[in-house]
Amino acid sequence: MNKNPFGDLNGKVCAITGGAGVIGLSLSKAISGAGVKMAILDLNKELADKAAAEVKSLSGVEAIGVEANVLDKESLQKAKAEVNSKLGKIDILINCAGGNSPKATTAEEFITKENVNDTAKTFFGLDIDGFRKVFDLNILGTVLPTMVLTTDMIELGKGSIINISSMNAFRPLTKIPAYSAAKASINNLTEWLAVHFAKMNIRVNAIAPGFFLTNQNRFLLTDEKTGSLTARGHKIISGTPMGKFGEPEDLNGALLYLVSDLSSFVTGVVIPVDGGFNAYSGV
Ligand code: NAD
Repeated sequence: MNKNPFGDLNGKVCAITGGAGVIGLSLSKAISGAGVKMAILDLNKELADKAAAEVKSLSGVEAIGVEANVLDKESLQKAKAEVNSKLGKIDILINCAGGNSPKATTAEEFITKENVNDTAKTFFGLDIDGFRKVFDLNILGTVLPTMVLTTDMIELGKGSIINISSMNAFRPLTKIPAYSAAKASINNLTEWLAVHFAKMNIRVNAIAPGFFLTNQNRFLLTDEKTGSLTARGHKIISGTPMGKFGEPEDLNGALLYLVSDLSSFVTGVVIPVDGGFNAYSGV
């Protein structure tokens, strides 16, 4: 075995969607540290450029920011052409764009005799447009980039695709039905794609992060004014045997393992990185 267990990654090219976000940037830094050239794709070009500059200055490896909308095939095709001309063929794809929205979130966890008439706070008041946007961003936002950004892997006869799932995929969390259903679909799609691509030597796996305090869930887990934990935040901590939120860097080991040849016979798996949340029944 190579002295550096991730030595096969050196010089490869990775495209990551949502790469300017909290988790995307952290994953980009980790994989770039193994010598992988990074194309940081994001809806927000300014943030993508900033993230690329940060990644490059940290690792000394080439990194570029590229504007791309994961819900728009043409935008993805344009992004791919840019990555190919500036960095080369894409060996690795990380589908990291995703998230929830307050518009697809119920105010109440349960429908009860007390709130049954206050439909705005329950399932009955969910904004369908918000629901659709969250569902599309997470599922179609993984399908479309996979369709457009993996054609080089077919040509190269090798590749690795990483999807980002969530704890919601195993058991839905209260209040966020669109996000839960979409992430459950990510696990299913990961298995489907793993089978579909297997004969082409392209592996497809997913990472299911536990709870990390980021922009998309801060409003649910901490009080805006005091910064202290909400009741939901407390529930999560007590449901996590390790007793804390994760740090984005906690995902690095799973990522490097799944994209490198160390996992060359591993495809179709979803690795939880969650401090034990998924294993814990609460008793
Ligand atoms: P984030 O909001 O910090 O980052 C998401 C990034 O995606 C942003 O930079 C945003 O500009 C970009 N984006 C949004 N819509 C896009 C589009 N249409 N096209 C391209 N880019 C788009 O979120 P994060 O917390 O870093 O989450 C990253 C991934 O991890 C998501 O898939 C999320 O569902 C998943 N996840 C997060 C947590 C958590 O606790 N934060 C837990 C489990 C899973």
